[in-house]
Amino acid sequence: MYDLAIVGGGPAGVSAGVYAARKRLKTILITDDWGGQSNVSPEVQNWIGEKSITGLDLARKLREHVEVYAGEWLTIRSPHRAMSIKEIDGGIEITCSDGKSHEAQTLLIASGSNRRKLEIPGAKEYDQKGLTYCASCDGPLFADQDVAVVGGGNAAFETAMQLLAYCKSVTLLARNDFRADELTVEKVLKNPKLKAFKNVTMLAIEGEKFVTGLRYKDASGETLLPVTGIFVEIGLIPNTEWLGDIVAKNKYRQIIVDPWTQRAFLPRAGSGPDARLGESGSRGVVDTTMSETQGPRNEADGLLPASRIWAAGDCTNGKYHQNNIASGDAVKALEDIYAFIHMEKNHSPAVEEKAAIVV
Ligand SMILES: Cc1cc2nc3c(=O)[nH]c(=O)nc-3n(C[C@H](O)[C@H](O)[C@H](O)COP(=O)(O)OP(=O)(O)OC[C@H]3O[C@@H](n4cnc5c(N)ncnc54)[C@H](O)[C@@H]3O)c2cc1C
Repeated sequence: MYDLAIVGGGPAGVSAGVYAARKRLKTILITDDWGGQSNVSPEVQNWIGEKSITGLDLARKLREHVEVYAGEWLTIRSPHRAMSIKEIDGGIEITCSDGKSHEAQTLLIASGSNRRKLEIPGAKEYDQKGLTYCASCDGPLFADQDVAVVGGGNAAFETAMQLLAYCKSVTLLARNDFRADELTVEKVLKNPKLKAFKNVTMLAIEGEKFVTGLRYKDASGETLLPVTGIFVEIGLIPNTEWLGDIVAKNKYRQIIVDPWTQRAFLPRAGSGPDARLGESGSRGVVDTTMSETQGPRNEADGLLPASRIWAAGDCTNGKYHQNNIASGDAVKALEDIYAFIHMEKNHSPAVEEKAAIVV
């Protein structure tokens, strides 16, 4: 049995892997891929220690760093997907996509988030035929074309900013108000190639072989916007479905953690009310741009800590989600896991028996 299993190869999972190996915890790190969500970013400027780095380089560096420790203390399984977990005597069993199971005394969940998909007629049909969820990956294909960005948070405004550099025009359509930080909104709205509308309901994507337009309605009525590219930035869905009900989650499917230690909690029947709503107003969608007053404060009230499970990064209910935060949260979790494992070892029947003999 491993001391620790880590699921995820983004900044949280990798940071945990490095710390675990250096603390000589017998660890298995299971991940689908490396680098996490920002590996599609053309430029990350706030990863501390790097003035500027592409997402792909960041992913490569994270991978190279953790691979230095692969060996006696750290086993890496990648590409590998954790499909389910269950509690076993003295630990957790994780079953992966290849059907194999791994047992560990403790688990750190660092499985991050994924983008939420647009659910209107035509969205499935034109996915990757003009409709895309990654401006960094696909944006340049739409150079000199008219495009739309759907969403009103930071991600949407940053996407618009990126596209404005080479697209003919960008129309930003937000379901509610603009929720990006004021500086970004101000900067983007100043660009003469940009039009932005709020309180818009997206109705359908139209096209032939590829997208030709986006139909929406607002207070002035229904409009068919002629665009060849549609970039969607409407929130994140935490990658926590594979966990079933083993830990408590909030209504956005984020794992509720103790911010002091990153320890997860046991679920309770029926989740409590939560003041936030995602941009879509539907369950399970994280709107990372809601104001502080609307954020959940006491989601852990009345919950009991899970004895062997911790979580870090974008899969948790932490208020802010960034690379550095994911990394720091994972390190915090690791310190606590290390303390837990050593306390458990020191109190195991064998150790207690030995101590009794010494006395
Ligand atoms: C386009 C974009 C640009 C961004 N730019 C920045 C930026 O400039 N600066 C910044 O600080 N933040 C940025 N962010 C946010 C940042 O990327 C996230 O906060 C960060 O990646 C979270 O790290 P994480 O390790 O918690 O999760 P993730 O990065 O989501 O990584 C999760 C990992 O878990 C793996 N995984 C998921 N499920 C399973 C499973 N069941 N089994 C095995 N493996 C699994 C995934 O493959 C992945 O490796 C950006 C996000 C996006 C989408």
